[in-house]
Amino acid sequence: MTMSIAAKHAKGKSAQDKIFGANAAAVAAAAKYGKDAVTNATIGAILDEDEKLVCLPTVEEVFRGLSTNEMIAYAPISGLPEYLDCVLTAAFGNSRPEGYIAAVATAGGTGAIHHAIWNYTDNGDTVLCSDWYWGAYKVLCQDMGRNFTTYKMLDENNKFNLPALKEKVDELLAKQDNLLYLLNTPAHNPTGYSLSGEDMDGVLAILKEAAVPGKNIVFFLDVAYIDYAGEKEEVRKIFKKLSGLPANILCIVGYSMSKGFTMYGQRTGAMIGVSSDKSVIDEFAAINQYTSRATWSNINRPAMRTLATIYSDPELLAKVCAERDYYYQMIKARADLFAKEAEECGLPMLPYVAGFFLSIPAKNPDAICEKLHEDNIFAVPLAAGVRIAVCAVPLKKIKGMAVKVNAAMQAV
Ligand code: PLP
Repeated sequence: MTMSIAAKHAKGKSAQDKIFGANAAAVAAAAKYGKDAVTNATIGAILDEDEKLVCLPTVEEVFRGLSTNEMIAYAPISGLPEYLDCVLTAAFGNSRPEGYIAAVATAGGTGAIHHAIWNYTDNGDTVLCSDWYWGAYKVLCQDMGRNFTTYKMLDENNKFNLPALKEKVDELLAKQDNLLYLLNTPAHNPTGYSLSGEDMDGVLAILKEAAVPGKNIVFFLDVAYIDYAGEKEEVRKIFKKLSGLPANILCIVGYSMSKGFTMYGQRTGAMIGVSSDKSVIDEFAAINQYTSRATWSNINRPAMRTLATIYSDPELLAKVCAERDYYYQMIKARADLFAKEAEECGLPMLPYVAGFFLSIPAKNPDAICEKLHEDNIFAVPLAAGVRIAVCAVPLKKIKGMAVKVNAAMQAV
């Protein structure tokens, strides 16, 4: 008999991460059949056309060029001041919203999500997200004793489903005083969908209508993939819309260096609070810094210094932007080819705009992924479909993949 001495709230926890599981199967197949015979579409990081993990060259140069002291010293708990300053430019570009703004350094984008859940919802509250979502959201909620619910993200015409969002927002606010709404855009994981400006207007109108006195809404805008979402300033225009929200709507922008700087393992990000009310932002800075102290203390100093160095030097920044663009184009070419072949063979695909992933809606995703193993293709089964990481698959292996996914779908 197995024995458990874990606390009541921790009993039965086990992170059976489907993404890492699928990746392990792909790695095992590559060892057996050779790398060329295997398509590993599970990895959420950019691999180049030779399937090597990409590090943006200028980022590497700046990072490796730091002094030993910068590499090893502690950083202030809320983050290096220069980083907190530059990260606003990195996130917002020319579209910085008006209002009170504060940034707190976090351990990746995940850290920002963690703090938002912990500090803006109570035990037993329900957090809202779309039905296509990054699995870690739910794990984070469950680990902190929060419920997690979803609305249908797309309607029958594959348009952003504002009525479904409104229904859930109203339903939850009838039961609880604070609502945390997690929205990942642009270049959504797992679909590659991006909300249009009009969609965003619709979202904000729903939130404003629901935020009656006595109710608070925390709108968490997860922009982890913004640097691979399209033209830099164009995709940032959504931020201007965060100006002038009522004081009982706090927007938190979740920023991550993981993808934009190819520094996934360096665990650096930020949560940026935007509010029309100074006291809400003072509280935001205080409570989140406190939670940082209480979880990881301070974060990665050299990664913060790398961002600050690059964003303080126009030449370095121009180089980084050009390097990112090269990989954005590489990913786009892969997604375009997959979408073209999907259309030709009649494989349904969710509307992809940009980003690391695309998704195929399906009734039996586990069986399809299992079937695809016969072709040495490895993808991630989600609740409502199959996720394909175009960021990690070279163009030559994308070719023919949609047809194989379609065949697997028909066969199961
Ligand atoms: N948000 C989404 C939707 C993601 O997919 C990721 C990473 O996979 C993140 C946030 C943040 O990642 P990290 O904690 O590595 O910065």
